[in-house]
Amino acid sequence: MADLKIKGATKAFGAVKVLHGIDLEVKNGEFIVFVGPSGCGKSTLLRVIAGLETVTDGEIEIDGVRVTHLPASDRGLAMVFQSYALYPHMSVAENMGFALQNMGLKKPDIEARVKRAAEMLRLTEYLHRKPKALSGGQRQRVAIGRAIVRDPKIFLFDEPLSNLDAELRVATRKELAALHTEIGGTMIYVTHDQVEAMTLAHRIVVLRAGRIEQVGSPLELYNHPANLFVAGFIGSPR
Ligand code: ADP
Ligand code: MG
Repeated sequence: MADLKIKGATKAFGAVKVLHGIDLEVKNGEFIVFVGPSGCGKSTLLRVIAGLETVTDGEIEIDGVRVTHLPASDRGLAMVFQSYALYPHMSVAENMGFALQNMGLKKPDIEARVKRAAEMLRLTEYLHRKPKALSGGQRQRVAIGRAIVRDPKIFLFDEPLSNLDAELRVATRKELAALHTEIGGTMIYVTHDQVEAMTLAHRIVVLRAGRIEQVGSPLELYNHPANLFVAGFIGSPR
């Protein structure tokens, strides 16, 4: 678990500016949701935090330590993507333990971490199956399990449920909420789904064209949207 500080984060791809000086502080244990229309920079902001992209300008701090120029593998974060790309030839247990093997952990430690994550995600009875013998929701839970076993300081989720059908999306969203209650990690979650944002977030960050329009609790944004854009996005009646 960790605090995260983003100071004046700017990102340009060539001449195209995608993030325009983002300032944001996330507290240890907080569940933060980034929302905004397609192309507004949600994924880029997440990737900049993760270290998968470097900022053009600005700083990123985790627990007071500047990580702006550290590679992704040294930031202690774990990211779950929309396309969960499991290794088809590996079992669920192997998929979940693979990164730990590369990190140099010993077999008993890997097995204990995989077992614990599988219990949390109700995957224990599927540990020996191959991904193709799982449902879409189970596969996405394996992808979440791969993040949990790494015991990251911060979890980053990029639209993790958007490939699931409506019913599974609701079920998996509830599991994610329960998971956060159970492990209490700092979570940063990107979605374009208002219901996900309103139900999961402690605070919602509304992005528009690479800038923050408003930050607040779901209730604050709903009752006091800063402008019509936020009101429209959150679905409040103003
Ligand atoms: P969102 O996740 O909110 O849909 P993105 O962060 O993916 O938005 O993209 C924001 C903008 O940055 C888009 O206009 C996109 O085309 C552009 N972009 C993202 N990644 C790259 C890249 N690697 N090279 C050039 N442009 C990019
Ligand atoms: Mg995106």
